Amino acid sequence: MSKRDYYEVLGLGKNASKDEIKKAYRKLSKKYHPDINKEAGAEEKFKEIAEAYEVLSDEQKKAQYDQFGHTDPNQGFGGFGGSGFGGFEDIFNSFFGGGGRRRDPNAPRAGADLQYTMTINFEEAFFGKETEIEIPKEEECDTCHGSGAKPGTKKETCSYCHGSGQISVEQNTPIGRIVNRSTCHHCGGSGQIIQDKCRTCGGSGRVQKRRKISVKIPAGIDDGQQLRVSAQGEAGINGGPPGDLYIVFRVKPHEFFERHEDDIYCEMPITFAQAALGDEIEVPTLHGKVKLKVPAGTQSGTKFRLRGKGVPNVRGYGTGDQHIVVKVVTPTKLTDRQKQLLKEFAEISGSTPDEQQESFFDKVKRAIKRD
Ligand SMILES: [Zn+2]
Ligand SMILES: [Zn+2]
Repeated sequence: MSKRDYYEVLGLGKNASKDEIKKAYRKLSKKYHPDINKEAGAEEKFKEIAEAYEVLSDEQKKAQYDQFGHTDPNQGFGGFGGSGFGGFEDIFNSFFGGGGRRRDPNAPRAGADLQYTMTINFEEAFFGKETEIEIPKEEECDTCHGSGAKPGTKKETCSYCHGSGQISVEQNTPIGRIVNRSTCHHCGGSGQIIQDKCRTCGGSGRVQKRRKISVKIPAGIDDGQQLRVSAQGEAGINGGPPGDLYIVFRVKPHEFFERHEDDIYCEMPITFAQAALGDEIEVPTLHGKVKLKVPAGTQSGTKFRLRGKGVPNVRGYGTGDQHIVVKVVTPTKLTDRQKQLLKEFAEISGSTPDEQQESFFDKVKRAIKRD
């Protein structure tokens, strides 16, 4: 839809003065005001005129319009009724008794949600735990039960705004009456006045308290996950529901185990002799010690899996596994006897590695030849 030029809408030339713009607007807005003009399309015309005036009467908007027309590459006017014209929409509504939305200052409102960060250790996350936390939160004042008025006294309806919390100022303009609403300064928008304030809360009806809450940490919770404790947030306002409490968990790392999702990873050092000859070793898991058979000829870095020895899924979908990576440790301190035996071993073995590795070296040789 192509927009008509604003000057054209007001029946003016491009270099019309401020006064001319104002005069043209007054004349046209009277003519097309929907209260006066009942012809079809009068309201659209009136809106068009109002929009043109909105821009041309504002020095900054006019300068932009003169330079860029309807399509401003930087900002744009947002189109009529768009975000850029929120203010106008309000005025427009009050012309026709549309009535802007008004919030009841004493309507019930939900309390705020709270967030609490809880640091737990690896085992606590693994097994879960019941614990108690103490959190500071805003609650209803016990003395006045949230009213803010001294016991035995009552809140009074604000005589300035008659309890609405808003003050309306009517203005007569050439195009009709404009109603401006603003927050009542007398009562701060609450619509009520407290003559005798409650001494405990100073009239706010709310006090800061430290409250103990018991928390059941579910088994399998992971770092960064959160738990919602319903209705343990701040108290509601005007009888509204309380907010929720969100506990965010931070899990401390373990010195031996590492966790990825529901699986546990760890490294187990074994000796060269255990790797070469095979052995049954003991492996720690969070479920207790478990025996693991290391077959003869195990290479360093080989991974073994212990099914079901991982973390129980926090949503109850089974249990993860534990993965063990064996690391063959080369001895650094050898006795004379050990040195002697290893020398003998080396002499028998020669300088070539065993079959498996031989074929590996063959592959390397072939790869080099190919070049
Ligand atoms: Zn109180
Ligand atoms: Zn008031």
